[in-house]
Amino acid sequence: SFRALVTQAPVDGETKSVVEVLDDDRLPQGDVTVDVEWAGLNYKDGLCLTGQGGLVRNFPHVAGIDFAGTVRASDDARYAAGDKVVLTGWRVGETHWGGYSERARVKADWLVPLPTGLSTRDAMMVGTAGLTAMLAINRLQDMGLRPGAGEVLVTGAAGGVGSIAVMLLARLGYQPAALSGRPKHGDMLRQLGATEIIDRAEFLAQPDKPLESARFVAAIDSVGGDILGKLLRQISYGGSVASIGNAAGIGLSTNVLPFILRGVNLLGIDSVMQPFESRVMAWQRLAELFDPSAYGSNVEAIGLAALPDKAAAILRGEVRGRVLVNPHAQ
Ligand code: NAP
Repeated sequence: SFRALVTQAPVDGETKSVVEVLDDDRLPQGDVTVDVEWAGLNYKDGLCLTGQGGLVRNFPHVAGIDFAGTVRASDDARYAAGDKVVLTGWRVGETHWGGYSERARVKADWLVPLPTGLSTRDAMMVGTAGLTAMLAINRLQDMGLRPGAGEVLVTGAAGGVGSIAVMLLARLGYQPAALSGRPKHGDMLRQLGATEIIDRAEFLAQPDKPLESARFVAAIDSVGGDILGKLLRQISYGGSVASIGNAAGIGLSTNVLPFILRGVNLLGIDSVMQPFESRVMAWQRLAELFDPSAYGSNVEAIGLAALPDKAAAILRGEVRGRVLVNPHAQ
């Protein structure tokens, strides 16, 4: 048997999750059984645990879109008991039981071998957030971004994707400008390598023009909405913007001038269905670039029982950096 945080079907619009002890025959179908050592908390986990966004359709459910651990049993030739693995995406934690559990059973296709140099805890500091930041940087570099050209704007900078994007950009020699609604976290962002802290409210308060002064050579945006619309008008000639998230909503109000007068590119980044080969490449690059000791002060570790409260907090934009989940903690 194993402990898991079980999310119940909503009652009167309210979704509750309770820690339960389950028998192994409750594990879903899959060819690899994993002893989960660490899971992460992402914005999407906040949606799943609070019953928002229509992501979870079948209850009872075990949420948790990313986890790392050790293979306990495998029916697939690629993995054997004792192997360290990491999982992100593939709708695990949404349509398939996820990582808020001491044990998980998944398809071998969804796993990535833990890259050399990272512990399972390090891998969950990175998690879906860091993988997505890495995929965004890889795309920007494919589009020709090189250090020394100017500032790269990172929005939602104090959150998971944003803070890791700032750190990775700085380690690659770029100048990340961090846009945050919580300027009190400016010191943390400067420590991670931000060259400038931009207050979200001040940024939005500047008068809107169809095309604004070019200020950034590229951007990584986790919030969408008015902020994405505005930053597109401030990207310099030929620059690219990686759109990775919608923390401020799914809307985007823009006009075509940034695209047709400055040749700006809007790139969509998805980590969930990302093919195996590019995941492995991104994780290897993360193992080289991510510095767990430098990022460690932006991490909070919790147990399963504390997750429902943290889920509500991440949706309110109140989580700083990454929240790690130890399913074995009481
Ligand atoms: P997170 O830790 O909560 O970070 C989001 C950050 O956005 C917050 O910390 C906050 O940063 C800012 N924010 C929150 N509410 C806002 C609002 N109403 N207006 C403007 N800014 C707001 O979440 P995360 O896990 O990093 O995920 C960030 C986003 O990326 C989410 O939308 C998530 O669904 C998406 N995502 C997408 C992928 C993909 O594959 N495309 C992968 C991972 C995540 P400040 O306080 O610093 O402003």
